Amino acid sequence: MIKAIKGFNDILPQQSAKWLRLEAVLQNVLSRYGYENIRLPIVEQTDLFARAIGGATDIVEKEMYSFADKSEPPTPLTLRPEGTAGAVRAVIEHNLLRGDTPKLWYIGPMFRYERPQKGRYRQFHQLGVESFGSALPDADAELIAMTDLMWQELGLKNEMRLQLNSLGESDERRAYRDALVRYLTDKQEQLDEDSKRRLTTNPLRILDSKDASTQALLNDAPKLADFLGTESMAHFEQVQAYLTELGIDFEINPHLVRGLDYYNKTVFEWVTDKLGSQATVCAGGRYDGLIGQLKSMDNKGKAQESKPVTSEPAVGFAMGLERLLLLIEAVAPFTEDSACDVFVAAHPEVYSAGIAYAQNLRYKRPDLRVKMASATSLKAQMKKADKSGAALTVIIAQQELDQQMISIKDMQNGEQKNVPQDWLADSANFLGQ
Ligand code: ATP
Ligand code: MG
Repeated sequence: MIKAIKGFNDILPQQSAKWLRLEAVLQNVLSRYGYENIRLPIVEQTDLFARAIGGATDIVEKEMYSFADKSEPPTPLTLRPEGTAGAVRAVIEHNLLRGDTPKLWYIGPMFRYERPQKGRYRQFHQLGVESFGSALPDADAELIAMTDLMWQELGLKNEMRLQLNSLGESDERRAYRDALVRYLTDKQEQLDEDSKRRLTTNPLRILDSKDASTQALLNDAPKLADFLGTESMAHFEQVQAYLTELGIDFEINPHLVRGLDYYNKTVFEWVTDKLGSQATVCAGGRYDGLIGQLKSMDNKGKAQESKPVTSEPAVGFAMGLERLLLLIEAVAPFTEDSACDVFVAAHPEVYSAGIAYAQNLRYKRPDLRVKMASATSLKAQMKKADKSGAALTVIIAQQELDQQMISIKDMQNGEQKNVPQDWLADSANFLGQ
């Protein structure tokens, strides 16, 4: 038979219940901070990602699902590998930045052609958050503080470590890159293969190489921090001061550079020791140049001379929901929650009275989850009731109906008794608020 594609997962009901719980916690925190939801297309023009993310990144070099559509000439399209590029396109296209500083979030699937393994899939899901319009370090700190509260609410606070770095501004980074390349060029033979290639394509990525001999070389390499100007330094220090004020611990990781080109100043990652090499659960940073860069392009992604590149500040992060769920499962699993409060079983000959009873109950008691089984034998229905996790089963039979009564069974202790028909509909009874 035809199976699902490698790296694309079904999320079955038992698992999906956990997704809903997780999303509810995340959305609750987002709304408590005043962030608003935005829903974006899953497909965009390939040029958008190529320009925004950068040609020498893992994503654009080898991970994008790209195809041509059927238009004439065909339009190159890509399944979104991340959400920031599309979010920025949307806020520009709809003028959301005019006179406003939107704080937005989205949840949904992303697509990257990677080698599937635990915590790494070809379709995966992210919560993305973008805070537009503030160049000030409080915007960076607010996002980090918000994620900190999410860990708190999920019982993960002790599992997460916050790593911080500053990438400075593009001219500072350029000066550093030149110094790094000068330092490493002589010692090329000691670099791992990827890093050798990156020496010409994307030298900063060498900093986060996992190779031991490359890391040893980097010990004496020039440090990015020494190339930051006073403005970048002051910004970074203020972010740290806010976090200290908020009691949020962090480590400075001078080798944290992030895989995407658009970042400047603050970058951060929340990492855990519990997920092996897929350790990063949430990652983000500031990207003050991206909006101006995309604004100045024509609809093919070509820079337009007539449009100067403006600086329009923004900061954001993306959280990998599969990794977050793996972590939750490992250290603080959600408590079992049955999908049913009341099961209604009815003798086949009075089954229509059973349907009417359940329907009335759902109208009157929106707080109860009321389930029925099909009109098979009462014995078969009672088996389903046992499996349903319901706290109470209502049994509808002719004899009780004649006296305006119903029979209820306490599923904990098996005790059964007769009560008036509207006993449950009256919200004072059973789980009533
Ligand atoms: P990695 O270094 O693990 O490849 P990344 O730097 O490519 O991560 P980002 O682009 O920063 O990841 O995406 C943010 C988060 O999304 C990651 O920290 C991770 O939790 C999650 N994520 C990224 N790629 C995948 C994937 N292929 N499968 C599952 N989750 C992913
Ligand atoms: Mg990656």
